Amino acid sequence: MLDFSLSPEQLDLQKRARRFAKEVVLPAAWHYDEIDELPLWVLKKASDAGIMNSDIPKEYGGAGLGLVEGAIVTEEIAAACPGLATSIFDNSLGFEPIVISGNEHLKKKYLPEIAKNFKQICFATSEPMMGSDVAGLQCRAEKDGDDYILNGTKYWITNSAVADYMTIFATVDIEKKHDGICAFIVEKEWEGVRVGRHIPKLGQRTSNTAGINLTDVRVPSENMLAPPGEGFILAMKTFSRTRPIIGAFAVGAARSAMEYSIDYAKKRKTFGSKLHSYQATQFKLAEMYQRVETSRLLVLKGAWEADSGMDPTITASIGKFYATESAMQVLNDALQIFGGYGYTKMFPVEKLLRDTRLFTIYEGTSEIQRMIVAGYLLSAYEPVMPPIEDVPVLLGADQPFDADGNPSGETAWRCPLCGYVHYGEEQPEECPYCFVTGKGFKKVWPG
Ligand SMILES: Cc1cc2nc3c(=O)[nH]c(=O)nc-3n(C[C@H](O)[C@H](O)[C@H](O)COP(=O)(O)OP(=O)(O)OC[C@H]3O[C@@H](n4cnc5c(N)ncnc54)[C@H](O)[C@@H]3O)c2cc1C
Repeated sequence: MLDFSLSPEQLDLQKRARRFAKEVVLPAAWHYDEIDELPLWVLKKASDAGIMNSDIPKEYGGAGLGLVEGAIVTEEIAAACPGLATSIFDNSLGFEPIVISGNEHLKKKYLPEIAKNFKQICFATSEPMMGSDVAGLQCRAEKDGDDYILNGTKYWITNSAVADYMTIFATVDIEKKHDGICAFIVEKEWEGVRVGRHIPKLGQRTSNTAGINLTDVRVPSENMLAPPGEGFILAMKTFSRTRPIIGAFAVGAARSAMEYSIDYAKKRKTFGSKLHSYQATQFKLAEMYQRVETSRLLVLKGAWEADSGMDPTITASIGKFYATESAMQVLNDALQIFGGYGYTKMFPVEKLLRDTRLFTIYEGTSEIQRMIVAGYLLSAYEPVMPPIEDVPVLLGADQPFDADGNPSGETAWRCPLCGYVHYGEEQPEECPYCFVTGKGFKKVWPG
């Protein structure tokens, strides 16, 4: 049975996340956006409220919740402040490679610390010269006895200023591309680790973003998350599980923009009537709701696939680019409904729009998601319909069915080039339309 309803536990979680979003996140959002700072205390409160790190398995001290629950929570937080949603969720991005790596030693060493002792962990594939092309990363990992020595710079790393631990992707050989990539857990306090200045941004200013420089950082082999050749796959598996959450951010932001728009349209008068009375406004609102609902369905399907042990890669990609681009359309329409006020910092839509703009960029741009989906369609997708040359296009046939629907009449042959259908016992000599030889005609009826 297909069931779209949330369980009582999920509804309770949603209620708690909603309360936290309205009581803690919303009042903090504009101040910390203005001063361009991550309020760590909000993360601490989120951790204490049990709405952070929810996907750490129970045996390592976590709540053991699934991605569906993660999506439910993050939609609520992002509805109040997408930047703080990024900051809160970033821990899951950071520890997800540990959870899926199968490395028991690292799971036992780091996951309980993150779950119980409010430790932060960031995730670093990107570099100053490389973001989309993960296989092209250049941070080097050289074997030295039992250890690895890391050298390189990571860039754009969310939460790096507050992170205690870092999931670092590096390569043993740049030339080897995918086959050279490995991953490590690095501790911030280790010698040779430096975090750069906070990068000033258009939006999501309540999240911290900075570079990480690694100079001769000695990492014990036991902190290797993925050996060379397995790091790239680990990064991709991580993204497949975290992209539905980015989609959930977008759903939350779009939902708030829609709600603010409904409220404003009911209050603002132009030409003697309320904005909501105009069909032009109503159509915008209807499309906003359509985008929010369809995005949420896709996001939850990707999360559900992951929780069900299926490979969520394709749904996660479709969900990410659909939900994030839809959210931008919603934000754009919302700002239009607000008119001049929408463009000011004193109304909520301006910040939501700036924050939402990032969603089509991080964790794989919209272009990268399209490349993933197109790659799947062109190589692995299994079509239901027959190849075009086998489609029984019975144009101009003289009674091809008897009274019971069984094939009758003449055999149909289809031209492989122009599609003309010839009827008769044999193929024609040549096609009367495109003159191709009749030998290439394929029998399409009876099947
Ligand atoms: C605020 C913020 C936070 C971030 N947080 C993190 C983090 O925590 N950890 C982390 O590792 N990274 C993080 N990133 C990095 C982010 O993932 C990258 O910015 C993103 O992957 C794009 O990489 P890039 O910026 O190098 O763009 P590029 O890869 O240089 O791409 C530039 C443009 O070209 C397009 N493009 C590239 N290749 C192709 C192609 N083959 N065909 C068509 N179009 C193409 C891209 O889609 C993009 O539009 C963050 C980025 C930002 C801005």
